[in-house]
Amino acid sequence: MNEIPSSRRRFLVNLAVAASAVPLGARLLGGNAIAQSLPALPVDNAQAKALAYAEDATTVKHPSFKAGSDCANCQFFQGAPGTSEGPCALFPGHSVKAKGWCSAWAKKA
Ligand code: SF4
Repeated sequence: MNEIPSSRRRFLVNLAVAASAVPLGARLLGGNAIAQSLPALPVDNAQAKALAYAEDATTVKHPSFKAGSDCANCQFFQGAPGTSEGPCALFPGHSVKAKGWCSAWAKKA
């Protein structure tokens, strides 16, 4: 049976350790770091317009708007509590403002 040279074995072990550390690091950084790496959802994005997304819920005049609702208390918001922005399940690849709102808002359980 062929043996793996020790330098190659060391390289493979280091590679495995490094590969396992990347997702852990991302988890330790939390949703805010991920959100900061996502571009902000443009209000003129076609889906954002279709769902009447606004960056400031206090300015919303939409008929389905409920007082006190915003992205931070929406079930689709994936940002860490207390952050100013975060990912939204409905707008993959973008971050939304925690104080934002859209007509798909649903109370966080
Ligand atoms: S679905 Fe919820 S979190 Fe996403 S933009 Fe609309 S209100 Fe904000």
